[in-house]
Amino acid sequence: MNFEQIAHPAPVPGATRQQAIADPGFGKLFTDHMVEIDYDADKGGWFAARIGPRQPITLDPAAAVLHYAQEIFEGMKAYRHEDGGFALFRPEANARRFNDSARRMAMPELPEELFVESVRQLVLKDRGWYPEIEGGALYLRPFMFASEAFLGVRPARQYKYMVIASPVGGYFKSGAPAVKIWVSRNYTRAAPGGTGAAKTGGNYAASLVPQDEATAQGCDQVVFLDAVEKKWIEELGGMNLFFVFDDGSVITPPLTGTILPGITRDSLIALLRDEGLTVREEPYSIDQWRIDAGTGRLLETMACGTAAVVTPVGTVAGPDGEFTIGSGGPGQLTSKIRERLVGIQRGTVADGRGWVT
Ligand code: PMP
Repeated sequence: MNFEQIAHPAPVPGATRQQAIADPGFGKLFTDHMVEIDYDADKGGWFAARIGPRQPITLDPAAAVLHYAQEIFEGMKAYRHEDGGFALFRPEANARRFNDSARRMAMPELPEELFVESVRQLVLKDRGWYPEIEGGALYLRPFMFASEAFLGVRPARQYKYMVIASPVGGYFKSGAPAVKIWVSRNYTRAAPGGTGAAKTGGNYAASLVPQDEATAQGCDQVVFLDAVEKKWIEELGGMNLFFVFDDGSVITPPLTGTILPGITRDSLIALLRDEGLTVREEPYSIDQWRIDAGTGRLLETMACGTAAVVTPVGTVAGPDGEFTIGSGGPGQLTSKIRERLVGIQRGTVADGRGWVT
């Protein structure tokens, strides 16, 4: 499918743009352009791919997304390499996960090549927005929602796919300080048979109250337990978890449908195995976590995701008290793996797996 190129009548002037991207923060600054592709089941599927000025969109007040939340999204980053080229990290994995989410939400799939091409086009168009700062990247947000005006409860017949881009700085100013996380006992994120494995807005809406609870308790992030036994560790609001033990083994919660299959998670499993560690995808309980941290059998806990890459978990707090992991600061393996992954993404470490496009 060809992308129609719509000229921007008034892009942000270079000097203003340069000033803005010097300290972009996370997710509050946006580039000049956006991608749109429309879908109509009655017109044979996807049509009218275009890239043009970023601007507000009009929606009928009866648009299905506003009522029944048929919406999915992805999150990925483009990195500038030393040779001046731009790299995407495993974009086809995001394309696949996007379609997995689409199927769960009864939405149409987007051909994987079209997904990757749409992201590529936006990066090329808005490359002038790349923040050349420590830890900087162009964060890309592909998303799709039901645009059909209809109030019956059934899958919509019309959708819009879009991509926007946001220059972002490092999640943390210097390296990765250890985070403190709150164990949510009052709320769960996803139940068996629910939508936990889909990247859909409702999961995040449901995580906001527990996240507020975490913040009120002086914590950075919330860790969710399973909805049935309230015993097994699942994931953070936006990151997956790895537990590192003193016998060279590592555990990460399994993909049983209630957690998001993180692309960073999948990459870390491979990189940790490269280091000679035994990685097992198996359930790990909150009680065992506390016990293992106490005995010292547990050396490190790392949280991982596109936004913060790999972050050490230093302290865990909950209604029944607190415990500290290791020294409470960044552990050796967490720092080493983080460097390897960041190196691959930014082109300073060889990528032997074809992860970088
Ligand atoms: N879990 C949740 C709930 C998330 O939102 C994210 C971020 N997409 C992740 C885990 C990590 O996924 P990824 O490594 O693909 O960014």
